[in-house]
Amino acid sequence: MTQLDTRSVHAGREDLAALGVHVPPIDLSTTYPLPGVDAGGAAYDELSTGGQPTGSLVYQRLWNPNVARLEDALADLEHAEAAVAFGSGMAALTACLLATAAAGYPHVIALRPLYGGSDHLLGSGLLGTTVTWVTAADQIAGAVQPDTGLVIVETPANPTVDLVDLAEVAAQAGRVPVLVDNTFATPVLQQPIRHGASLVLHSATKFIGGHGDVMGGLVATTGDWTARLRQIRAITGGLLHPLAAYELHRGLQTLPVRVRAQQVGAGKIAQWLTDHPAVEAVHYPGLPECDPRGLIGRQQAGPGAVLAFTVAGGYDAAVRVAGRCRLITHAVSLGGVDTLLQHPAALTHRLVPGAAKPDAGVLRLSIGLEDPADLIEDLDQALS
Ligand SMILES: *Cc1c(COP(=O)(O)O)cnc(C)c1O
Repeated sequence: MTQLDTRSVHAGREDLAALGVHVPPIDLSTTYPLPGVDAGGAAYDELSTGGQPTGSLVYQRLWNPNVARLEDALADLEHAEAAVAFGSGMAALTACLLATAAAGYPHVIALRPLYGGSDHLLGSGLLGTTVTWVTAADQIAGAVQPDTGLVIVETPANPTVDLVDLAEVAAQAGRVPVLVDNTFATPVLQQPIRHGASLVLHSATKFIGGHGDVMGGLVATTGDWTARLRQIRAITGGLLHPLAAYELHRGLQTLPVRVRAQQVGAGKIAQWLTDHPAVEAVHYPGLPECDPRGLIGRQQAGPGAVLAFTVAGGYDAAVRVAGRCRLITHAVSLGGVDTLLQHPAALTHRLVPGAAKPDAGVLRLSIGLEDPADLIEDLDQALS
């Protein structure tokens, strides 16, 4: 199994045939029988410190087989040693920040723009971290302090789909581990570990689930991060439910097909928007002017299925367009099979302070699997 499409279908399922089943059995146990007090205690010690199961699984907060299957599958696709799943993308980021602060490195360097929720969490200092914001990769090395524990970047970045050169980020970060939010690209288009990242974050709620009906978060990683993140999950309880893990694992099977088909639609719509008189700018890495460093093809296999555009007339015009969409749903989130449009400055990036907030005329589109001609017709009437 070497090709991504094949691994997406089969990863985390290698033992099913020997079990005599075709799909993963769902294990909803919250607790597990203990073989004895001593053996139970030993299993507890092992699992609560982030280790692998050897005997009883003890308690669902420590281990669940459906969650473990999803983790194995995502790690495979991301070229990581392992992955750790959480109840949401924000729970996953929380665990990474807690692990960093607990290790005595509470300072984080973050490259803006990031998802609004990540920006807010970092800015709040709620988890004992401090943050230095930078706006370009070449500012990272100068911001490193003795207590810097993490560099955080997102590429393509929310909401304007800017690309970040990960090789440059890794070189600038030096000894400091780099976390890449890979939610927009998915492992189908980009595997950040190959470009020097130590941690790859996903809001699995988006493309991995793909149907708008399940929340989850994942961190693909290497080395001792895995045990530290599992331990934090066991202590703080930000778990993924086994049914959600089952759905996300199934989502991985169609991820390559969905991402590529949605990407084709996004390319057509981005091109159409560039010629529309009511549109001032289109932000999509498939347009050459949006990828000055030529990262598409080198770092990222394709431009993806999310784009943004700036409407002429600022906030009021953006509000009108959002209100007039019919086929396209006016809603936050992204990565599903249906097309969603939202106003980042008012919604996903509402809590981002001052000048870092997206422009009031920007709307973000996550393209689904509809026929692009129907989406264009809807956008045309909404923009007119
Ligand atoms: C949605 C999102 C998150 C947060 O994930 P949740 O699953 O909503 O908690 C983080 N990063 C990016 C890029 C996102 O789009």
